[in-house]
Amino acid sequence: MKTGFAGTGIMGSAMAVNVLKSGFDLMVYNRTREKTSELEKMGAVIVNDASRLGEACNTIILMLTGPKACDDVLFGNDGILKSNNISVDCIINMSTVTPEYAVETARKLEEKNIGYIDCPVSGSKGPATEGTLILLAGGAANLISRHERLLLSMGKRIINCGETGRGSVMKLGVNLLLGNMMASLSEAVNFSEKFGIKNSLFMETILSGPLGCALFALKSSMFESGEFPPQFPLKHIHKDMGFALEMSQNKVSLPCAESTFNLYTRGLNFDMGDEDFASVIKIIQNRDLNGK
Ligand code: NAP
Repeated sequence: MKTGFAGTGIMGSAMAVNVLKSGFDLMVYNRTREKTSELEKMGAVIVNDASRLGEACNTIILMLTGPKACDDVLFGNDGILKSNNISVDCIINMSTVTPEYAVETARKLEEKNIGYIDCPVSGSKGPATEGTLILLAGGAANLISRHERLLLSMGKRIINCGETGRGSVMKLGVNLLLGNMMASLSEAVNFSEKFGIKNSLFMETILSGPLGCALFALKSSMFESGEFPPQFPLKHIHKDMGFALEMSQNKVSLPCAESTFNLYTRGLNFDMGDEDFASVIKIIQNRDLNGK
């Protein structure tokens, strides 16, 4: 039996390499086949439609944009569950989705005797490449422990968050903090620069004190160059904060997120969705230019 992997975008391509390097017999599907060529050279079997994964693999990892992409790949016309001859017994969904989606999908899969691990990740392209992601797992503990070796081929630690859906709650909580931190850093960099402090000196100061963290260190060169190649695309932080804001309606107040979400929405309107989310600094600079 092979292990399946669907979705070789920024994260999935690096994660699948680590699964392969750990000795798993890997079968890979990506909607855009060209993005699988490196994995093919390394020995993965590449398939043109996801239903082939469902027929040949027992465990399948999903690393896709969000709920719609997961539905297409699982339940679509050429999806994993299309065949009458399905071998899959566990889906590990590492995409960032809503907790509600995780619970509902687990329910649909249970009807077919297929287990579901709700396992989004914390960490971006660097940790995905190094195999040091933090894996935020929700679901049956025995199912998670049965897949521990596979999971740890992609990450350095599994955090057991509880029942199905809690992995996704944890992920959205982490990304609320992430989205706010990035907007807040951008605001402080821009403020200092406007009043005569170079962004490189400001970042050096932050990174040498108690506010220094790996995230800020990673983005420092982007502020300096003004180039924002995507590690974590702006469209994804917008998606994830949007999920959290939708869930929060009348239940919990998210005053910081409400404000920073508007900045990321402007970013999308300016066609910056595929840039790294650190490009939110350009939105703040643009507000200065327009006086609002
Ligand atoms: P990405 O580069 O945009 O890749 C998205 C993947 O989803 C691609 O393989 C894409 O296929 C596939 N896809 C999208 N819509 C599809 C559809 N309708 N049918 C089939 N396949 C579809 O995104 P990423 O950065 O790797 O992120 C993947 C997931 O991880 C997202 O949920 C994101 O929020 C989460 N995440 C990202 C980061 C990060 O730093 N980038 C960190 C943690 C978590 P194509 O290649 O054909 O477009």
